[in-house]
Amino acid sequence: MIKLNNVSKTYQTDTIETLALKDINLHIQKSEFVAVMGPSGCGKSTLLNLIGLLDRPDQGTLEINGTTPASWRDKDVAQLRNQSFGFIFQSFHLINDLRVIDNVELPLLYRSCSGKQRRQLAEQALASVGLSARKDHYPNQLSGGQQQRVAIARAMVGQPQVLLADEPTGNLDSQMGAEVIDILLKLNQAGTTVVMVTHDERQAKQAARIVRVFDGQLVA
Ligand code: ADP
Ligand code: ADP
Repeated sequence: MIKLNNVSKTYQTDTIETLALKDINLHIQKSEFVAVMGPSGCGKSTLLNLIGLLDRPDQGTLEINGTTPASWRDKDVAQLRNQSFGFIFQSFHLINDLRVIDNVELPLLYRSCSGKQRRQLAEQALASVGLSARKDHYPNQLSGGQQQRVAIARAMVGQPQVLLADEPTGNLDSQMGAEVIDILLKLNQAGTTVVMVTHDERQAKQAARIVRVFDGQLVA
């Protein structure tokens, strides 16, 4: 469902050029759970951002379900991104002055969806991460693990095919981290493709496949 063919990405700042990814070939099947590992700065986040259409490769092609959005307008790429991908990050990126339920509804504001439907979908998503009882709380009234589960509900509320997770347990203790991994495994078993960056070998071993990145290249 996701194919990267000879993909490279260079970041250009005023004076420095960084080759962040070099000639990447990677195929991810529908409903796979892939863990991405590698040292800091090796290109893991760049890889996730390219897969999730947050950024574009400057060489090679990216295919999503057989389509290659390389020549598409930004607006159309954004639409494909919003339909296909949910994102979670190490820092939860919740909006602190919105209640949990309103945070989860956010991605649906860009869809043609009635207020009632939005509420219903958000309640389902919260139930799937075990947080129905917290829907009227504010994010800072929850533990880190609960906040990440809210972020997962927000990522999944639009029913994306793929969940991209950039060190989702990096700010959590091991017990809360394990809870988050359990939820990702459950979503994967229900058919969602998961691509997760992690530093934790034990977590990575729970994935069906481990992709190792070193210095911008896939090494295993
Ligand atoms: P990782 O996620 O493995 O820590 P990244 O993908 O974030 O690695 O970064 C890969 C390389 O690209 C690093 O050398 C990093 O400094 C550089 N890089 C990442 N983002 C940018 C950016 N927006 N501008 C310039 N360089 C960047
Ligand atoms: P880290 O996990 O390395 O501390 P983040 O989780 O904040 O960093 O972000 C990982 C990557 O995703 C970064 O390249 C960042 O620019 C990008 N990013 C973070 N939040 C968003 C967002 N809400 N929408 C789009 N891109 C984001």
